[in-house]
Amino acid sequence: MNRKQFKRIYIEISNSCNFNCTFCCGTKREKKHISVSDFKKVIAETKGLTDTVCLHLMGEPTLHPNFAEILKACDEEKVSVDLTTNGSRLKEAGEAILNSISIKKISISMNAYNSICEDELRRISDFAISAGDVGKTVELKFFNENEVYKQAKAYMDTRTHKNVFFRFINKWKWPEQTAVGVDRRATRKTFCLGGKTHIGILSDGTVVPCCLDSNGKIALGNIFETSLKEILKSERFVKLIEGFRNNKPTEELCKTCEFLK
Ligand code: SF4
Ligand code: SF4
Repeated sequence: MNRKQFKRIYIEISNSCNFNCTFCCGTKREKKHISVSDFKKVIAETKGLTDTVCLHLMGEPTLHPNFAEILKACDEEKVSVDLTTNGSRLKEAGEAILNSISIKKISISMNAYNSICEDELRRISDFAISAGDVGKTVELKFFNENEVYKQAKAYMDTRTHKNVFFRFINKWKWPEQTAVGVDRRATRKTFCLGGKTHIGILSDGTVVPCCLDSNGKIALGNIFETSLKEILKSERFVKLIEGFRNNKPTEELCKTCEFLK
């Protein structure tokens, strides 16, 4: 089987968010929604390199003013889409998501809620059930069994709804949030799959090696100026990959990153 270079590519269609989660590092970059025509250019370049795109990196993808058109472009190009959302805009975007052929998996970040009202919970749960019924995999993600989890569990028994799951994930820190001066290389953690199994493309076209580079510090090139194939041959990218292979991360951002293994 001819496998493509990356398992997935993160395409940040918008870096705006309507939430302000305490654990989120946010971004200092200028707020930008990618235009539909630029998104199509990105998809045309990425589809030879991956079968799956994730429509976020930072930001809430459903805030994109042309979100339905973005999904239509994915349908036309027959790419598989994983969508991560905070679930707050399902009233506006839910229909487009349910109608999208390309969306295979939807992750709803329930950890974005400290508390949730009944209406909101009902909207998210009912949407999850509908999406599961049309064959999409839906994961409601929590950090722990908090009140929101207990409310969701009381409202919906996932055992009776196909394709809908509750998932617990570990709380993580973005590399820019980790303590200054804590060099994880000293703990012999020196390897990462960033750039190997996945890359990210920020809303302004900047290519980064992973989904944690929230401010584009490892800017490998810009897909609107240089082809992705050329960017992946660039000295900085080649050194990054070699560095991980030789247990010597080359990038400052990587040195404190909790995702080094
Ligand atoms: S919903 Fe996501 S992008 Fe928005 S503030 Fe929360 S963690 Fe950050
Ligand atoms: S070590 Fe961290 S910052 Fe560096 S590529 Fe991996 S995930 Fe990204």
